[in-house]
Formats: sequence, structure tokens, C-alpha cells
Amino acid sequence: MKVLLVYAHPEPRSLNGSLRTVAVRELEASGHEVQVSDLYADGWKSQVDRADFPSLSPDERLVPAAASGTDFVAGTLTADVMSEIAKLHWADALILQFPMWWFAMPAILKGWVDRVFAYGFAYGVGEHSDRRWGDRYGEGTLAGKRAMLIVTAGGWEEHYAERGINGPIDDLLFPINHGILYYPGYEVLPPYVVYRVDRFDESGFEPVAEGLRERMRTLFTCAPIPYRRQNGGDYLIPSMQLRPGLGRPDATGYALHLDGDGAAREG
Ligand code: FAD
Repeated sequence: MKVLLVYAHPEPRSLNGSLRTVAVRELEASGHEVQVSDLYADGWKSQVDRADFPSLSPDERLVPAAASGTDFVAGTLTADVMSEIAKLHWADALILQFPMWWFAMPAILKGWVDRVFAYGFAYGVGEHSDRRWGDRYGEGTLAGKRAMLIVTAGGWEEHYAERGINGPIDDLLFPINHGILYYPGYEVLPPYVVYRVDRFDESGFEPVAEGLRERMRTLFTCAPIPYRRQNGGDYLIPSMQLRPGLGRPDATGYALHLDGDGAAREG
């Protein structure tokens, strides 16, 4: 199988750099083909601006979604974006690897998503009407492929538990897992999160590396997070509300969007 690893850390000699090497070696040892997009090393441009849309005339007002759709359909998006889109078509699985910075991904990786997940490719796909709200959340261009996160965090695992002060890790990663990866169709796997990394040493590294090797060995077999499909009958259209009677009556928030009423939380 083919795997694209998008790596967002400025220092190759970092813990993230070591974990990337572990992941790539294990995937290749399992017989997979791997490509790495190393965003800092490649000097990835993270901001969306006029230069992204060659078809836009200089006096035209920039409407990013519309301009993205025009250049995507025409095949005239910039070469760096087109190259990443080609890699996404090529890959059976996508891995995003990053250190958690301010409870989110580093800006360079968010900018990769903003620019590469073009209108007509990752969003704005399928029929949009009062009967159907597009092909998204389980359907879309990238349906049939898998995606997962590898994340390092300075905070302790307890700080990210259900009652932890940082908020539950599943909730913090929901906008990425559900909003960015599930949206264009990926089956999203539970993330591999390494906690309390800033005081890490060699004795801490090997168990974490072995855990990562195991996750790479099971990349194409482990069960995805059971998000509800938008067009599977669970949601009202066009309000996109979860149907009355689904989900625990007292439940609110992200867990409502897990099939099984939140019983199967990602771990
Ligand atoms: P490094 O700094 O490279 O390494 C961490 C430790 O691992 C070091 O002790 C290093 O010696 C050791 N190490 C590295 N490689 C190896 C190896 N091969 N073998 C053994 N040991 C090794 N954390 C949060 O939890 N939440 C946040 O919101 C958050 N926000 C942040 C915002 C910013 C701007 C920054 C800079 C940090 C933030 N952090 C946060 C902490 C951040 O998540 C961690 O610093 C980061 O995940 C560490 O990853 P790294 O690859 O940079 O580690």
C-alpha cells in the first residue's frame, strides 16, 4: 500500500524527527511505499493569498473558496499545491505528524490544509440542495482511504483525560479528525499521542517507538473512529442536526457524532 506522511517540525534532530524515522522504517519494512512531505524542509508557503490563484485577474476581488474552485477545475492551482493533491490521490493512507502547539497543529501544517484541500477536491463536492448536503463526513474525494495523526504533547496524559484541565484529547483533536480528515472522506484512525515529552529520555523513547511501530503495522487493519456518516440517515437535511432520539438525551458536543452514542471513544 502507499502512505503519505506530512511532517511539520522545524528540526530533523527533534523527538518528532526520531519518531518520523521510526514510522517510515516500519512502514517500509511492512512492504509499504512511503512519501514524506517535510513542510519546513520544503519551505512550504502557509498563507492563502492571491498568488495561489493564477486565474484571478489583478483587479478581481479575491473570494478564496471560489478562486480555489476555479483553479482546481481548470488544473491551474500552483505547482506546490498540485503536487500535494497528486500525492493525496496516490496514497492509500495519510499520516499527519506534528507537535501540539497551543492545542492545535503548527501554523505551517494548517496552511498545508488550507491550500491543498481545495474547493471541488476536499470540499464543495457532490450535490448541494435541500435534499443533499454534498459528499462529506464519510463520503467525498478521499473516501476509501485512511488517515491518522501522530502528535507529541508536553502535557501529561491525565491533563488530557475526561476531567483534565486541558480538555479531553479526543475533543481537542476533533476539529482535525472530524473537520479536516473525515470531512473529505477519510476513515480516521485513533491518533497516536505521545504525552509529557519535554522531559523525555532514552528509557522513555523505546516504549513509545515500539507503540508507534505497532500502529504502523496495523495501519490498514485497525478499526477507525466510528463517526456517524452525514448521508447515512442520522442527520436531518438541511439543518444537519442529529435526528431526535439518536445519542444520549443528556449528551452534547462532539461525542454525539460517534456512532454508538459515544460508547466507543477513540483511545
Ligand atoms: P524535542 O524538544 O525535540 O524533544 C523532547 C525531549 O525528547 C527532549 O528531552 C529530547 O532530548 C528528547 N528526545 C528527542 N529525541 C529523542 C530520541 N531519539 N530518544 C530519546 N529522547 C529523545 N504542549 C502541550 O501539551 N499543549 C500545548 O498546547 C502546547 N503548546 C506549545 C506551543 C509552543 C509554541 C511550543 C514550542 C510548545 C508547546 N507545547 C505544548 C509543548 C510541545 O508539544 C512539545 O514541546 C513538543 O511536542 C515536543 O516535541 P519535539 O519533537 O519538539 O521534542
